[in-house]
Amino acid sequence: MVSRVAETYSVYVGNKVGCESTTLEGLRVINYLLLNGHSVVENPREATHVVLNTCAFLPSHRKAIEERLAGLCAEAPEAQLVVMGCAGAIAPDILLASRPVLVCGHRDLGRLDELFFRLVRFEQTPDYQFQESSERVLVPIGRGCAQRCSYCSIKRSIGAIRSRPVDAIAGDFRRNVAFGKRRFLLAGDDLGSYGLDTGSSLAELLSAIDDIPGEFSVLLGNIHPTWFLEYFGAIKAFLGSPHASKWLFLPIQSADQAVLKAMRRDYPIEKVSSAIEDLRRSVPGVRFYYDIMVGYPTEDDAAFGRTLDFIVRHPASCMTIARFSSEPGTDAADLPTVDPQLIRKRAKELQATYAAAVHLDKSVKIARWGQD
Ligand code: SF4
Repeated sequence: MVSRVAETYSVYVGNKVGCESTTLEGLRVINYLLLNGHSVVENPREATHVVLNTCAFLPSHRKAIEERLAGLCAEAPEAQLVVMGCAGAIAPDILLASRPVLVCGHRDLGRLDELFFRLVRFEQTPDYQFQESSERVLVPIGRGCAQRCSYCSIKRSIGAIRSRPVDAIAGDFRRNVAFGKRRFLLAGDDLGSYGLDTGSSLAELLSAIDDIPGEFSVLLGNIHPTWFLEYFGAIKAFLGSPHASKWLFLPIQSADQAVLKAMRRDYPIEKVSSAIEDLRRSVPGVRFYYDIMVGYPTEDDAAFGRTLDFIVRHPASCMTIARFSSEPGTDAADLPTVDPQLIRKRAKELQATYAAAVHLDKSVKIARWGQD
């Protein structure tokens, strides 16, 4: 049983790295603190409590988080430190030096009540808050993911898919459109698995959003290629609608079938290829954004060559290259790794091949994801 705290605190909430859903969770925490009568301060030096909201997926994240934690401890040496987001589940080692009083992941944010509960429990705080920005209004579809990629440590933190009801999401759009908002981002950890837990689907959700009257455009967050194929008809119809931003964000990762199988992402890559071609022919102005991973442990030269070939055949307007890194606790961490120098070389080769392919294909323009 958590007892109420008598005092009110000054709390600094900082974000370091993370996806849109992590950002939204940070906003929910701010709302929770305010509802409990605490003040949220902008300067950690004025804080009795410092909350750091962060993911720790990439090695570069970890370095940045370690530096941020050290900085916060120096700026606010007396403050109690709380770490939320994926970091506690993925990389507890980096928290050792800073010794937070509380570490809570996405699924146990209710533990914030141990420190801050006065009037409203965390679970009673409205589920989601929009992030208003000059860019877009973020509308979350829920949290969690239905996949089990062999290299991923995020899944341990975010858990299984938990979808919001279609009506609630459509209601968020209606209200914001009525208030004059025009640009939206539909955000989720695994957008395509939306509704698996509730008997709904991404197809149903897109159709409900498209039925909302008014002038607005929706950018879709990343869609795992399995769901891209599953809901191809619905996605194609949505991209052809005036309500859609013409971007499709596909985390392809590799174009080698054996590597995809080893990653436990066994979508038929040739079908993905054909579906991309279909969209390029039938949706004027469609643009693609790919995530590609190089150096997965079973990726040999021939497999890497197939990914290069894919990029040449289907150049995207935007691409992120991630180098494989062994995540403790994942199945891929037990596999012998590719030589890091070779991984660096492949990443450079992929970047150069991508640049050359875009240069040759005059129908493709490099752009920032979501740029109109
Ligand atoms: S889709 Fe794969 S990589 Fe993405 S969060 Fe789910 S398990 Fe992790």
